[in-house]
Amino acid sequence: MRALPNIVITGTPGVGKTTTCTQILALASQSDPPLNLQHLSINDLVKTRSAHSGYDEELQTLIVDEDKLMDEVEKEIEDGAGNGGWIIDWHSTEGFAIRWVDLVVVLRCEETAILYDRLSSRGYKDAKVQENMDAEIFGVVADEAREGWTEEGQVVELKSTEAEDIEENAERILQWVKNWLKDREAKGDGD
Ligand code: ADP
Repeated sequence: MRALPNIVITGTPGVGKTTTCTQILALASQSDPPLNLQHLSINDLVKTRSAHSGYDEELQTLIVDEDKLMDEVEKEIEDGAGNGGWIIDWHSTEGFAIRWVDLVVVLRCEETAILYDRLSSRGYKDAKVQENMDAEIFGVVADEAREGWTEEGQVVELKSTEAEDIEENAERILQWVKNWLKDREAKGDGD
């Protein structure tokens, strides 16, 4: 049994995953007692563990070697103490084992003009901006998550359009962690 839950923060590029993770960690460290959550940026893992097989110029992205990547993810979150508390930041849930994760948060930015600005300000080419906008409009990441985690409440979608949403979402996710801890304690007492 993990001491803290593992949470995936997912969504189309540009929805605010990394910003939200940073905010969750900041709130967790200020909480009383502090909660020892850790950010697992899968983007960084792809690069640092060479879990890729080259660069796709058209899509301006590393070609991910999913098997290698998932081995590395498993090493991070299951090896060691396996104590949990990972806030996992990735634009997909494909390949993740259901057992690794207690909650999947899908951030959504359905205001296409806002998402367009965020993506184009990253220097993405039109094709890449369009691909991501389509993915967001069709809710591809949310569908994929719901296919994996079918229990009620395991997948939540949160709006990430305005700056206030970041703070609100981070507070909500932290509250979910606190509730998870309370439930776990209550279950432990009853055993
Ligand atoms: P992701 O990790 O999902 O690709 P980022 O967290 O890197 O997205 O955010 C991309 C950009 O959009 C950043 O400049 C960030 O400040 C901005 N941003 C993200 N979410 C919001 C939001 N809810 N309100 C305002 N700006 C946001």
